[in-house]
Amino acid sequence: MSRIPIIAGNWKMHMTVPEAAALVDGLLPGCSGRKDVEVILGPAFTALHAVCAKVTGTGIGVAAQNMYHEPKGAFTGEVSPGMLKDAGCTHVLVGHSERRQYFGETDALLNKKLVAALENGIIPIFCIGETLDERESDRAFEVIGKQMDGGLEGFSAEQAGKIVVAYEPVWAIGTGRTATPEQAQEVHAFIRGRLNERFGGMAATIRILYGGSVKPDNVKDLMSREDIDGALVGGAALKADSFQALVDFNK
Ligand code: PEP
Repeated sequence: MSRIPIIAGNWKMHMTVPEAAALVDGLLPGCSGRKDVEVILGPAFTALHAVCAKVTGTGIGVAAQNMYHEPKGAFTGEVSPGMLKDAGCTHVLVGHSERRQYFGETDALLNKKLVAALENGIIPIFCIGETLDERESDRAFEVIGKQMDGGLEGFSAEQAGKIVVAYEPVWAIGTGRTATPEQAQEVHAFIRGRLNERFGGMAATIRILYGGSVKPDNVKDLMSREDIDGALVGGAALKADSFQALVDFNK
């Protein structure tokens, strides 16, 4: 089953609008019109509209880093799926570990967000992963299984087929400590197996990205593993040359 790889950048709480626009300008020549890889940029809310306008017609996707599941109303500080769609977003990160850790996002809330994103035609990138403590106490698979069961509760195979999953071990995010390709592949195979138990053959079509200190010097090895279908990238996505090198992992 061939799955087109995805290289997605998560710019986190970085970059003003002019800085974001300059980064996109640096990426457009090498990232536009790619058929071999799907490129997704993840600016902060304030830069979404400007980035979406710049990538129109290039095939480059734009992901918001978060959203609320309600369509509108008295939810001060929140942004709805319809608003993201209106700004031009194609994707949204759901359940990034920083959202779970610092903002108390639960599996039940993430389930609502995943459903709302799909209802609004936005592809959710559903982030899951264990902490260092959970890995060291041999609970990584249990934790990841629970995150998947909670987040995807009530999902049909058709719904599941529309999402992207990102495995991001919390201990590897922003730490410079990458999971080895073997460690990552082991978890990716577990995730695909679990998707297969729930959704049958659809599991073979779902892209599972790895995230956690992906850099130009480790991307090729990670991407060579059977169940690793792309990367979700923080630090190395903030500079045009390093992000471009990731997008070009296969060249
Ligand atoms: C992330 O933000 O999702 C991430 C993986 O960050 P980094 O690449 O910096 O570890």
